[in-house]
Amino acid sequence: MSRLRVIEALYRHPLSSRSDLARNTQLSRATVSTLVEELVRAGLIEQGAGSGPGGAGAEAGVGRPPVLLSLVSGAAFALGLDFGHEHIRVALCDLSGEPVIDDYSLAEVDYSPSESFDLAQHLVHEALHSAGVAPDQLLGAGMGLAAPINKTSGNLEANGILPGWHGVRPAAEMEARLGIPVALDNDANLGALGEKAFGAARGVDDLVYIRLSAGIGAGLIIDGRPYQGFAGVAGEVGHVLSDPHGPICRCGNRGCLETVASPVAVAALLERSLRRPVTIPRLLELVAEGDRGAQRAVAEAGEAVGRSLSIVVNILNPELVVVGGDLAQAGDILLSPIADAIERHSVAPAAATVRVTAGMLGPRAEVLGAAALILAKSPRALVARLGA
Ligand SMILES: [Zn+2]
Repeated sequence: MSRLRVIEALYRHPLSSRSDLARNTQLSRATVSTLVEELVRAGLIEQGAGSGPGGAGAEAGVGRPPVLLSLVSGAAFALGLDFGHEHIRVALCDLSGEPVIDDYSLAEVDYSPSESFDLAQHLVHEALHSAGVAPDQLLGAGMGLAAPINKTSGNLEANGILPGWHGVRPAAEMEARLGIPVALDNDANLGALGEKAFGAARGVDDLVYIRLSAGIGAGLIIDGRPYQGFAGVAGEVGHVLSDPHGPICRCGNRGCLETVASPVAVAALLERSLRRPVTIPRLLELVAEGDRGAQRAVAEAGEAVGRSLSIVVNILNPELVVVGGDLAQAGDILLSPIADAIERHSVAPAAATVRVTAGMLGPRAEVLGAAALILAKSPRALVARLGA
């Protein structure tokens, strides 16, 4: 238990002196010193940059700056896996959360789960090889999928959302291929975690992360903790009614936000006026070039997103709304109408205090959030290894 307290304290506060550690762990200074020596010998703790002379094992003298200690960032690693509709992304992060490898491959994920697992396994092996990391240095893998995950069964609610994945058990499949624990979560939930751990939402405890990609989903963090709802389906703002006369959605309802404001829906509007196929990258180019139709379509999508979010803002009163996914690259053309609609349709005290911002991690938010899921549990995993 004492080892866990020291490791947790250093995980939360890198560059701590022995006095900081005694204060943060409520352990005596003598106990802290003994544990620190043990953990330095085990290769888990080292003297951090900017600290006084004397080495991690020695105590600083009077008048010298204290020796500052940190976890050895390369002592263990966490994997992030992000299965999008059309790609698989793998990040290998050290204990400080720094991605040492971040690799990406296009894949037809929606219709071919088993090929997707094989490809992810291949990407992981390549990542370990290029980083020179041994498989036994891995603490586990976080895995994101674009579907709601049932919290109790760990199964996907794939019907209508991920064709071809019904009855598939993704965490078990990846565990069998990688030989490490795999934690599965919805991709938007992981985007929220990623932006909170490493990006635009650092230090924010009440936030909504909305992901505007092939699908639309939201990840919620309430009071510092991810909120998944009773069955794990919380945050499906993409399937909130936006236009009662809109098209039938893949979920079976009519006029969901996703049918109006996903990048695919926006691109389809332009295909009609431009009379040729418009990919999402092309849509973003048109916006950047100042094409009036493209800017208009994106702005109206932003307004629809903001209207739906105003309901979320009224109910949850978040401090921050982080906008991620492909469409976020449109910048203020998208963000201003979202912020305006929230301002106009939310109750005044909630509207006055919420900020709307673009994500900082771009397409890496989900994969880094997946790694963060494992890193959050790393102190316990490190202590368990010491005991072995
Ligand atoms: Zn829907």
